[in-house]
Amino acid sequence: MNQLLKSIIENNRRYALEGKVASYIPSLAKANAEHLGICVATLDGKEFSAGDCDVKFTIQSISKVISLMVAILDNGTKNVFSKVGMEPTGDSFNSIMSLEVKNPQKPFNPMINAGAIATTALISGDSLEEKFEKIINFTRKITGNDEININEEVYLSERVTGDRNRALAYFMKSNKLIEGDVEEILDLYFRQCAIEGTCRDIARIAAMLANDGILPWSGERVISREVSRIVKTIMVTCGMYDASGEFAVHIGIPAKSGVGGGILAAVPRRMGIGVFGPALDAKGNTIAGIQVLQELSKELDLSIF
Ligand code: GLU
Repeated sequence: MNQLLKSIIENNRRYALEGKVASYIPSLAKANAEHLGICVATLDGKEFSAGDCDVKFTIQSISKVISLMVAILDNGTKNVFSKVGMEPTGDSFNSIMSLEVKNPQKPFNPMINAGAIATTALISGDSLEEKFEKIINFTRKITGNDEININEEVYLSERVTGDRNRALAYFMKSNKLIEGDVEEILDLYFRQCAIEGTCRDIARIAAMLANDGILPWSGERVISREVSRIVKTIMVTCGMYDASGEFAVHIGIPAKSGVGGGILAAVPRRMGIGVFGPALDAKGNTIAGIQVLQELSKELDLSIF
């Protein structure tokens, strides 16, 4: 497997030249566009990796999967989905239009920014710190990595420049879609986006989802089989921005990407995959990472369809 991953990384490195690192969050622009790495975590606890698999990056939108799980653990599935929908939008992840014009009752799904902000707003706790502890501790548990933390520079950079997310959040507050202190909710959202990890950490989260909610390395159940099923289904329909349909056709694995260049991909009952390559395509997905996943999916016949 290590050999296969190594050759897939080398075959696809050139695609990074065609992409661009995200710069709308200024500190993300410092990423090395040539990085490309992968880690595979199988359900019997084995891990395989290649390329720049030890480079840390901020998980950005991949955190939406984590906050969705935490919100469901706190509130139950029914309550969460009374505030956020389950439908893909076909618009960009930070679109205001889809929120205002198309579906003012609730954001379309928890994988777009508005939906994730609404989901994060549901996490309970007496203070911002307590709520963030919940998210970070859950992330440490599902990665098996107690060192997981946030990248302070990226967090501050987004907090200073995140006016589009501010607009989404205030719009939702004015429509009573979210309650409470908007700046505090945004702070929590910016922090979760700035959680930093490697391909290995992402692969482990994916392996837990692939394993129906049980950590492969300890046998501990962290979410129910039902919640794991719901999260993976939403990843299929909404996880890869407005390229989710194409991704399902060509790769066929429940996945969530982030503008930091990561992809979390969970192959049900087979393996978790973490991919990282900060050069992005026009839709905001890692350009070389998509090619890597496509080749791996073909080689190992990973499509669920
Ligand atoms: N922190 C980013 C934002 O809210 C996350 C976007 C993403 O990864 O898609 O704009």
